[in-house]
Amino acid sequence: MLEICIEKTKNPKTLPPATDPLTFGTIFTDHMFTMDYEEGRGWHGARITPYQPLELSPAAMVFHYGQELFEGMKAYKAADGRILLFRPELNAARLNASAERICIPPIPVADFVAAVKAIVRLDGAWIPDKPGTALYIRPFIIATDSFLGVRPSHGYKFIIICSPVGAYYPEGLDPVKIWVEEEYVRAVRGGLGETKAGANYVASLKAQQKAKEAGYSQVLWLDGVERKYVEEVGAMNIFFRINDTVVTPALGGSILAGITRLSCMELCALWGHMVSEEKIAVADLFAAARGGELTEAWGTGTAAVVSPVGELRMGSETLQVADGGIGTLTRRLYDSLTAIQTGRIEGPEGWVVEV
Ligand SMILES: *Cc1c(COP(=O)(O)O)cnc(C)c1O
Repeated sequence: MLEICIEKTKNPKTLPPATDPLTFGTIFTDHMFTMDYEEGRGWHGARITPYQPLELSPAAMVFHYGQELFEGMKAYKAADGRILLFRPELNAARLNASAERICIPPIPVADFVAAVKAIVRLDGAWIPDKPGTALYIRPFIIATDSFLGVRPSHGYKFIIICSPVGAYYPEGLDPVKIWVEEEYVRAVRGGLGETKAGANYVASLKAQQKAKEAGYSQVLWLDGVERKYVEEVGAMNIFFRINDTVVTPALGGSILAGITRLSCMELCALWGHMVSEEKIAVADLFAAARGGELTEAWGTGTAAVVSPVGELRMGSETLQVADGGIGTLTRRLYDSLTAIQTGRIEGPEGWVVEV
């Protein structure tokens, strides 16, 4: 059992009013969780303190070579007041998979889940309860050695901060327009694509900016070698329904293994739609859309849960997905996942963990 020392704030902030539109990632709760790592000593000093700035050497390795990873998950308030997490041990496992890739020492799964539960329990009053809202949880690890040489750090900090977030779609589920990026790439096999490292996001900024300027909300990434195969969308995995087959890109090393992706695949299988993990050529996808065979497209990720795709743009060609609206399976996945996450319906065994 992880021993966590708790120091409560003496100056609690005022909770955001329930009526405020809560924009993503701007407000933080009263407390934070921290744990340190030192070579020879392992992870130690688990504590919850008031939310506060960090003190780090300007030579801290995270600032120079980006040895950093993160996770993203949510806590939901059920109608009966219970606080629910969605498959948190999968976030713990993925954190450790990311850690392994960038030479950060792993954290025992049980300790990760205990830390998340502890901070969420203490700041439970911050969890909004309006439909679509949640407490976003951001665990992350940074390299702290004061050293300018290139090698894995010997010291780290594992920190968890929490931020109440509003409904991703305040006016209801709304199809997004996607820009197919042909110039820049996000990741290559053997690189960091399957790692939830901040480095992937800095690589994505330029294309995201380009898409925004053209009036598109997200980038669809193609494979980094041939720029032929669909990989994922911004911070979401992507699914297509072509005729009656549901397909999603096979992971293959450059794609982040989303927990929402896995959950959608499992729900689809339960409903009798086997999902095929494939290499999907963007040319074939556009041909299917032109031929009227692309009936649905949606992204999956913790922030939006399920995000219908209404339009794809590649070069000078703009394609509407079916009628540009929300597909039936997209809608069913969104409704079911959000109902499971908030405890309105029961999901498969073990998906929901009470805090
Ligand atoms: C986090 C992330 C996802 C979605 O993963 P979930 O576990 O479903 O939230 C997809 N792609 C990228 C690049 C990500 O960083």
